Amino acid sequence: ASGAELLRDPRFNKGLAFTEEERDHHYLRGLLPPVILSEELQVERILRNVRKCQDPLDKYVTLMELQERNERLFYKVLIEHVTELLPIVYTPTVGEACQKYGIIFRRPHGLYISAKERGKVLDVLRNWPETGIQVIVVTDGERILGLGDLGLQGMGIPVGKLALYTALGGIRPSACLPITIDVGTNNEELLNEPMYIGLRQRRITGQEYDDLIDEFMTAVKQAYGEKVLVQFEDFANHNAFRLLAKYVSTHLTFNDDIQGTAAVALAGVVAALKLTGGSLADHTFLFNGAGEAGTGIAEMIAVQISREANVPLEEARKKIWMVDSKGLITKSRYESLAHFKKDYAHEHEECKSLLDATKALKPSILIGTSGQKGTFSKEVLEAVASFHERPVIMALSNPTSKSECTAEEAYTHTQGRGIFASGSPFDSVEYNGKTFTPGQANNAYIFPGMGLGCIISGAIRVNDDMFLAASVALGEMLTKEQLDRGLLYPPFEHVRDVSAHIGASVAQTAYKAGLATRLPQPKDLLAYARSCMYSPEYRNYR
Ligand code: NAP
Ligand code: MN
Repeated sequence: ASGAELLRDPRFNKGLAFTEEERDHHYLRGLLPPVILSEELQVERILRNVRKCQDPLDKYVTLMELQERNERLFYKVLIEHVTELLPIVYTPTVGEACQKYGIIFRRPHGLYISAKERGKVLDVLRNWPETGIQVIVVTDGERILGLGDLGLQGMGIPVGKLALYTALGGIRPSACLPITIDVGTNNEELLNEPMYIGLRQRRITGQEYDDLIDEFMTAVKQAYGEKVLVQFEDFANHNAFRLLAKYVSTHLTFNDDIQGTAAVALAGVVAALKLTGGSLADHTFLFNGAGEAGTGIAEMIAVQISREANVPLEEARKKIWMVDSKGLITKSRYESLAHFKKDYAHEHEECKSLLDATKALKPSILIGTSGQKGTFSKEVLEAVASFHERPVIMALSNPTSKSECTAEEAYTHTQGRGIFASGSPFDSVEYNGKTFTPGQANNAYIFPGMGLGCIISGAIRVNDDMFLAASVALGEMLTKEQLDRGLLYPPFEHVRDVSAHIGASVAQTAYKAGLATRLPQPKDLLAYARSCMYSPEYRNYR
């Protein structure tokens, strides 16, 4: 490659870090100022630029431009400053980026498959310049975070998630493929927005939709084989459950909103038990929100209760209650309920509001997955605090603006007794002279390790046990000292280590289930997982 091409290719570009020798060998003389900077100094400089931006969205754009310019430097910055930068690359800022995608759009990231490409999806995949794809994150943009239908602008989500696959799970960037399937949007604002870059039509549905997804899923296997992981992300729940059930037995696939969320929430709940005492089965769970996240978490908790307490799954589910937009889910509503809610319709009188349900059921663990800001009101929080010494409060809705309550509200309205975690990050809170550090139930603890585990074992399917293994591995990473500070999850600085452990555990489980194809099985899976992880250090080009 000529020097100019090297500088333009984000996979190889090192900017001012090209050495004298490289500058001679690759015709770079004169194309760069004479100074040679170390990668460390480059990281410093990027950080300075990012921190200078007042607006988080500007920080996002700065980082995305770096990703397009110098990939290794982007990942080095992200890995070394993950706590600071995760909220930019992922929730909450990525949500704002998606909302304004048309305006900040510069260079296309990821692959766009629209309903126009029906019949040609395999050709579209073949246009992607990389061939060794190992992980695909795909969305149809219908339920982006808690922000609703953003159509094609949802692309920020697969792009962001895959950046985390690389930074946190050590998957090679070239093996990652972000995809948005554009089937139109029902968002009137976007349909009327002249800058909108997606299909200007209402969403296709029914058979037409299913056929497009099916063509996509078939093409993925044709192009990349049996061992490519397809993560479904931010699909609306009327499609999410269906598609998961349809493809889980034919593809290496999972839905992060359903299963990833469940695994990370379960790990947090199990950690909280060390403070509340008792086992899972001793608690009463009340969910606000019975969609993908809520019922996904409920089901994983129920499976775990039934294993631990050795009771049938139906018994275990009775520990778990759910409120949706119409109130408490009860037997009397059974006929009209979406299929994924039916298992949680228990015998009870009607409760119209979360507050009524809280008072009637006295939950010790309250989980918010409604996407509705403020629904953990002062009254609701005071009620749980009146029933339990250490109530667990998980406000999981993203982004921050949709959180059921803030960290401060959770601690204040429970007089500092509440054990709190949230989906989007909150700063530490001072209450009565004590500092509380809220845990963040971020899916980024689980899915990168899940992907790593699948890849290192050559898994061809994902099963429930692999998710339970991931959840347990995460729970085990928490130290006593961290728990005492109020954390339900290990600090994010250690997340690559978390991913390696989860990866090893997931791989082990895949081997046990006969789903792993990489043979022979490596003796030390943890060491093997670590050795496979991508490192952003510059290479020497001679
Ligand atoms: P979803 O499938 O659309 O489910 C939303 C649920 O909330 C539905 O059951 C809905 O009721 C219910 N709901 C709406 N308004 C309500 C209200 N006022 N009171 C009580 N319930 C109400 O969405 P999802 O995928 O589960 O995601 C929900 C939220 O969870 C989002 O904000 C998302 O960002 C967040 N999430 C967080 C994490 C994490 O923290 N790690 C992971 C995934 C998702 P109906 O069924 O009656 O419509
Ligand atoms: Mn999601």
